[in-house]
Amino acid sequence: MTEQRIYLSSPHMSGKEQSYIKEAFDTNWIAPLGPNVDAFEKEIAQYVGANDAVAVSSGTAAIHLALSLLEVKKGDRVFCSSLTFIASANPILYQGAEPVFIDSEPETWNMSPQALKKAFIEASREGRLPKAVIIVNLYGQSAKMDELRSHCQYYNVPIIEDAAESLGSFYKGKASGTFGKFGVYSFNGNKIITTSGGGMLVSDDIEALKKARFLATQARDPALHYQHSVTGFNYRLSNILAGIGRAQLEVLDVRVNQKRNIFERYNQHLSTIQGITLMPELEETFSNRWLTAILVDEEKVGSSKEQILHALSDKNIEARPVWKPLHMQPLFVGVTYYPHNEQENVSENLFENGICLPSGSNMSLEEQMKVINCIKSCVKSSFRNKVIDEVS
Ligand SMILES: *Cc1c(COP(=O)(O)O)cnc(C)c1O
Repeated sequence: MTEQRIYLSSPHMSGKEQSYIKEAFDTNWIAPLGPNVDAFEKEIAQYVGANDAVAVSSGTAAIHLALSLLEVKKGDRVFCSSLTFIASANPILYQGAEPVFIDSEPETWNMSPQALKKAFIEASREGRLPKAVIIVNLYGQSAKMDELRSHCQYYNVPIIEDAAESLGSFYKGKASGTFGKFGVYSFNGNKIITTSGGGMLVSDDIEALKKARFLATQARDPALHYQHSVTGFNYRLSNILAGIGRAQLEVLDVRVNQKRNIFERYNQHLSTIQGITLMPELEETFSNRWLTAILVDEEKVGSSKEQILHALSDKNIEARPVWKPLHMQPLFVGVTYYPHNEQENVSENLFENGICLPSGSNMSLEEQMKVINCIKSCVKSSFRNKVIDEVS
C-alpha cells in the first residue's frame, strides 16, 4: 500500500464555503462581480486596516495592476526581492521594465536594507532611480519594514508590498501588506486561505483603487458603446470564488494559530538537533508561519539538504527547497543584483541549505511526527560524528 501523501500546504475548507456559493447560485450571481466580491473586498480591507481593496483573479494580477498604476513602463527599473517566487517579478517583465534584484538579510530572510541602500545610491548616481520597489514577506515573515521604508522614502520611490504569503502576519502591530503604496495578497490553492485562485490589491489611496477596478475590467470608458482609450485587463475575481474567500477569511485567525502550532512542534523536535535551525521570527513581528522552513548544516547533521529531501520524498512527503533566488534563474541571466554585503550572499546561502516542510493547517499530529521522524533518521548521531572527527 502506498502511503498517504503529506502535502506542503493543501487547501483547508471551513465548511461554510458552500453556503456562500449556494447564495450566489440561488440569486444567479454567477457572472464576475456581485455581492460576494463587494463584501470580500470590504472584509479584507477591514481585516488588514486598509482604506480599500480590489479583488482580482490572482496575486500576480494584483502586482501587475500595481505596476500599471505606478506607470511602470518600458525602460523603467523596478527593485525586487531576489529570494521569492517568480510571480513577484514576472509583472515587471509584462510592463517591459527592467528588474534589479536585492539580496536578503539573515534575520528575516527578506530584503536587505543595506543592499537596498547600495542599489539606491548607485541608481541615483546613474540618474536612473527605480519606479517602484517590490518587497516580499517570505513564508509569512515580515521584512524589516522601518529600515526599508526609510530608504524608499528618502528617494521618494513607492513600495509594492508582496504579502502573498503573509496575510494574517503583523509588523509592530500593523498588518502585513499595508506598508507600501500598494499591498498584494494571493488566494492561490496553497496559500493560508484560498479561493482556489484569486488575489487582492489593497491601498489607502481610494482613487488609485478606483482606477485599478477600471483597468481590471478592460478599461472601458463611460459610454453607451464599447469605447477604450487605454490598455486594460480582464483581472476581476468571480462572485463564486469571492464567496469561497469570505468563508475562508472567517477562519484566517484559526489557520494562523494552526500554522504557528505546527511551527512550534517542529521547533520543539528539530531545534535540538545540531546543525538544524528554523526560520527566525524578528522581534516585534508576528508571522503567520505559512510554511515552516529549516536550514541544514550538512557537516553537523551528516546529511545534505538533498539527502533529506530524498528521504522525505521516499515517504511520500512533499517538501521543497527554499525558493531559488531570482538572480540565479535562467530567465534573469545578466540582471543586476545587490548582495547583502561583499562577504555575504544571504539568499544563495538560504537556497543552498533551506528546506520548506509540510505545514498544512489540516495536517494531523501523526503526519507531522512522521515528517519529524523521517528528518531525525537522516541525522547521524553526534557521538558518531565525534568519533569520526577524532579518527580522521
Ligand atoms: C503565490 C505568490 C504570488 C502569486 O500569487 P498568485 O495568486 O499565484 O498569482 C506572488 N508572490 C509570492 C511571494 C507568492 O508566494
